[in-house]
This record gives sequence, structure tokens and C-alpha cells, in this order.
Amino acid sequence: MANASLVIGNWKMNGSQALTRSMADALRAAVPSCGDTKVVVCPPYTLLAELTRHCYYDGIAVGAQNVNANENGAHTGEVSLTMLKELAVEYVIVGHSERRAMYGDDNSAVAAKVTAVTQAKLNAVLCVGEDKQQYDAGNTWQVVEQQLQAACAELTPEQAAKLVVAYEPIWAIGTGETATPAQAEEVHANIRQWLVKRFAAIGEKIEILYGGSVKADNAAELFAQQHIDGGLIGGASLKEDQFVAIVQAA
Ligand code: PGA
Repeated sequence: MANASLVIGNWKMNGSQALTRSMADALRAAVPSCGDTKVVVCPPYTLLAELTRHCYYDGIAVGAQNVNANENGAHTGEVSLTMLKELAVEYVIVGHSERRAMYGDDNSAVAAKVTAVTQAKLNAVLCVGEDKQQYDAGNTWQVVEQQLQAACAELTPEQAAKLVVAYEPIWAIGTGETATPAQAEEVHANIRQWLVKRFAAIGEKIEILYGGSVKADNAAELFAQQHIDGGLIGGASLKEDQFVAIVQAA
């Protein structure tokens, strides 16, 4: 039986006012029957206010895809935590592999963001995962452990209580190629062990999500794994029927 507690949709640079409204309607209709599963939608910044307007009630939360770790000030083009909080944002994705690869979010930038987000008492969704070459070389855990170590270096246990970890093998993102449930489960079990070693009892409670080509037809099997607490969903979170089916599979 799947017992996933958290499903997050990452719209990336996609979506519209119309999709925001229709997704909110679809989720509102589905979520009451989904037990304790929390659903989060992370649209682009420009759609956050519209989503908050349509989703602001228990069960569906609003998330951002990135943030600037600095306070308000001279950072042209950036968005601060204060601004996100004003829009009732509860989750912030940090260190997505696309940001690491294309926008200079290296381990130290990711660490600064995780620290700032959790200090502000928002939930940081820390993305970790290996690329194809690292996977083929058998270095998955080494890469993931390094990313965890760097990102969590400054975190107090109190801040760690606001952490979510998303394991996203880069070779599975947007490719249609998913890690098998057994492959994902092995990495998730290692992440759990690492979190417990680092944060003791709090480490037991941190949710660990799987991301990378999760669809309506493979979600249930992934979510049924012992250490998979939910999913971070890209492409399939842009289609109302797909995303609702994934939430229901949780
Ligand atoms: P995908 O993306 O579901 O489209 O593979 C996942 C992600 O990038 O978070």
C-alpha cells in the first residue's frame, strides 16, 4: 500500500493564469479524498498570487521554485523570502539540477538558500541526484552524500525540521526513463540513514521524495516503497488529470 505523505508539482517555466485556476479546481475536488497527503504546487513566480488566491486552504500549499538567500535590496531580477512569505508560500525548491547546471547554483549557493529558507521557517525542498555518467560509474551515493553534506552543513536540528529531500537522478528528469522502484528505494534508504545520523530523531521525520519521470502509471509502485515518502513531479504536474491521479496514488 502506498503511504506517501507529500506530492509536489514543479511547473518549471510553464503554466498560465488559466492553468493555475483549472489545476486549483481539479486539486480542490480531489484532495479531500486523499487522506493525509499534502499537495504542493510550485508555479513560476508570476503565478504564485493567483494560486494562493485559489488554493489557500488546508490540503493544498503554494511553493516557489527558487529564492534569493539575501534580504531585500539591490539584487535586480531576484525574489526574496520576505516577498514569498507575503504570498503565503510555504515551500521553496532549492538546488534543482536545472538550476545547478544552468544558473550557477553550486553547493555553496544551495547551502546558503537551504539555510535561509529554513531560518525563515519555510520548508526547503532540497534536490539531490547524480547525472548519467556518475550513475554509470557507480558513484550515485558518493554524489548524493556530498550534496547532502554541503547543503546541510549549517543546519541546526530545528532548521532540519523544515527540510524535505528530493532524490532526482538527473538521467530520469524529463526523459521518460525512471529509476526502478528498487533503485530509488536503495538511495532513499541511504538518505534516511544519513539524515538520522546527522539529525538524530528529527532525521527520522524528514520527508524524502522521488523525482524523475513520475507519471500516473508508475507513481503507485514508487510510492509503495518503504523509504519513498512522496514525489516531486515535473511534466506530469502540468496536466490536471495526470497530477490528480498521481496525488491519488499517494
Ligand atoms: P519530470 O521532472 O517529472 O518532468 O521528470 C521532475 C523534476 O525536474 O522535478
